[in-house]
Amino acid sequence: MLWKHYHTPSTVQEALELLRSYQGRARVVAGGTDLLLDIRFGNVQAPEALIDITRIDKLHQLEADETVLYVGAGVTHAQIARSELVRSRAACLAEGCGVVGGPQVRNVATLGGNVAHALPAADGTTALTALDAEAEVVLDGERQWLPLRELYQGPGQSLLDHGRDLLLRFRVPLCGANEGSAFSRIMRPQGVALPILGGAAWVRLDESGAHYQDVRVCIGPVAKTPTRATAVEEVLRGQLVDDSALERAVSVALETLHPRTSKYRATKAYRREMIAVILRRILPRAVQRARSSAAVPQVRA
Ligand SMILES: Cc1cc2nc3c(=O)[nH]c(=O)nc-3n(C[C@H](O)[C@H](O)[C@H](O)COP(=O)(O)OP(=O)(O)OC[C@H]3O[C@@H](n4cnc5c(N)ncnc54)[C@H](O)[C@@H]3O)c2cc1C
Repeated sequence: MLWKHYHTPSTVQEALELLRSYQGRARVVAGGTDLLLDIRFGNVQAPEALIDITRIDKLHQLEADETVLYVGAGVTHAQIARSELVRSRAACLAEGCGVVGGPQVRNVATLGGNVAHALPAADGTTALTALDAEAEVVLDGERQWLPLRELYQGPGQSLLDHGRDLLLRFRVPLCGANEGSAFSRIMRPQGVALPILGGAAWVRLDESGAHYQDVRVCIGPVAKTPTRATAVEEVLRGQLVDDSALERAVSVALETLHPRTSKYRATKAYRREMIAVILRRILPRAVQRARSSAAVPQVRA
């Protein structure tokens, strides 16, 4: 065995106490789709114990009030992709989670694990970043809400110490009138985990639906952490929604975003080409959803 003890706490409190008792020698596990490979291939030191958080009911809740969606860290990609509420009011998240791995991976892999693994190309993470999500965490024993972007420190590194801290849930603003979002990615057909490039956009249009009032875009990987394309957002704010605004956004993206060559996925030259492809897919789709948002029924999870 790669570890000595396996615990299945049923409350957050119990999980935190177990983590405390191992003083950093245990590790949180959810679906295990990242962690077990990391342990097996020696990327992560084999822990003395695994603290399996999948029996904690509170971490499986997917609920909403009028304006905000709460997604427990233990909710799987499959549950998110299936949720009518997420599909209609946080569409890019449903789309991002809906393409993670294959059905077997999506049925066990969690949004919390996707974020905690802290890779700048992770699909759920890209969508959450465009939606300006916040994360509820227990860091050094202190429960707090943090903007998602403040959680990341580098590829595979976040503020979370996986032997001591816990990610509890996400708070995601739901799309309202004149708002819409979309996600798309370019993936190798043989399906190496993580895309060549992925992107998500959220837009709010003015009441006439003719102008961008506000925009958020996340393209990844183009930096060490999931990053908003702020220059692209800036160039679109207040502009007429038309092809020339879209092409200006593409030009600014190509000037300001700098993907790297990856020996497993693609060259930086190819990834640059794909930035344009992704933006031309996600912005029009987000706009179209924003224009039809009035017709989206209020659904509860
Ligand atoms: C075949 C395959 C295909 C994949 N395809 C994709 C893909 O297309 N897109 C993509 O984005 N990813 C992909 N992945 C990666 C992986 O499935 C996702 O990142 C998934 O969301 C990880 O979730 P998990 O629950 O399995 O995390 P785990 O493996 O259980 O945990 C991952 C890390 O997060 C920590 N952790 C988990 N939950 C918490 C928590 N609540 N609090 C604190 N720390 C926590 C763990 O300690 C570990 O360090 C793929 C993986 C495989 C094996």
